[in-house]
Amino acid sequence: MNREQIFEFFRRLAEENPSPTTELEYENPYTLLVAVVLSAQATDASVNIATRPLFAHIRTPEQMVAFGEERLRDAIKTIGLFNTKAKNVIALSQALIDQHHTQVPRTREELEALPGVGRKTANVVLNTAFGEETFAVDTHIFRVGNRTGLAPGKDPLQVELKLEKVVPQPFRLNAHHWLILHGRYICKARTPECWRCPVIDLCRYKPKTPPPGTKPSASRTASPRSSAARTATGRKPRTPSANRSRSRPTRLP
Ligand code: SF4
Repeated sequence: MNREQIFEFFRRLAEENPSPTTELEYENPYTLLVAVVLSAQATDASVNIATRPLFAHIRTPEQMVAFGEERLRDAIKTIGLFNTKAKNVIALSQALIDQHHTQVPRTREELEALPGVGRKTANVVLNTAFGEETFAVDTHIFRVGNRTGLAPGKDPLQVELKLEKVVPQPFRLNAHHWLILHGRYICKARTPECWRCPVIDLCRYKPKTPPPGTKPSASRTASPRSSAARTATGRKPRTPSANRSRSRPTRLP
């Protein structure tokens, strides 16, 4: 994708969802950090089910350490890898008390030094809690970046560095939320729902998935203006134009 196409790509995602955010529920930077650690290889929905009652009364590292590993393990036992995650959450809470005056640190290096915190988790916290323009590449962003041609890379770090390079303002802060949501709900792993995709004409993935009940061959040759390119609402996605590509979103993210 060229620069104008990338701008148009994000302009459309921003138009559809002007204020994206994480679907993880949290109360403060600390509970966000815990929720993101718990979300490794688990869905946000499953994490929310476990953390909703937990965060009702545990919102600080001290409270978590007092709660203890055993009770935490029981509280999160519906989430995959709960044994390791309980151990890490207690250890990182103790580290926050011992080394960071109970506060979540604001640098990548300090975050990544905490037990159970990797680059992706650090990026989510830096972006969502502290407003940094970071790109937390999860499985959805990795797939969307490669499929569309937006940010191809053979591993998450390559995709992240490519996004760093190509995502323009004013989309940098929210780019990773749009890409995650796009991958989760439209550009799905097994069958991307291209027929209702707002960026179908910008995406390099072929063949495009036709609407349900349509023969694949019909949409493979479909242009963005064809019926196969209509969105679920029956609205045609806009094709990029020089003017539109340079236009700003009516509501900035
Ligand atoms: S056109 Fe299809 S493959 Fe491309 S971004 Fe949209 S849903 Fe994904």
